[in-house]
Amino acid sequence: MSENSGSDTVFGKIIRREIPADIVYEDNLCLAFRDVNPQAPVHVLVIPKEPIAKLSDTESKNHALLGHLLLTVKRVAEQLGLANGYRVVINTGEEGGQTVYHLHLHILGGRPMQWPPG
Ligand code: 5GP
Repeated sequence: MSENSGSDTVFGKIIRREIPADIVYEDNLCLAFRDVNPQAPVHVLVIPKEPIAKLSDTESKNHALLGHLLLTVKRVAEQLGLANGYRVVINTGEEGGQTVYHLHLHILGGRPMQWPPG
């Protein structure tokens, strides 16, 4: 299968505990774990357990899940002490810079962020 076909990814393996990850939060709908290649002092990925490939694949039926993911970002950011702010990024598709085709929200914090991003 092609990379963006919605097939299993490394994140599916993390959900199933087939490969290790530094998990910081989990509930019945989602998982949050530290990025293996951090771009900031705090760099965490929040992913749905449902294997949605990318944001542009979501539909109206996913609205509650998408809200839950954002509220989880807020919760995890508070848990990790990002009281001075943080950035949330969803890379989407080839030109969006997405490399893992399982929807994920990056939380980046612990340093001042620049704008525009590259
Ligand atoms: P994307 O470029 O798709 O927005 O982000 C994918 C992210 O997943 C990257 O920041 C990359 O470092 C991270 N990543 C890729 N493979 C693994 C892995 O096996 N474990 C963890 N914790 N992060 C990973």
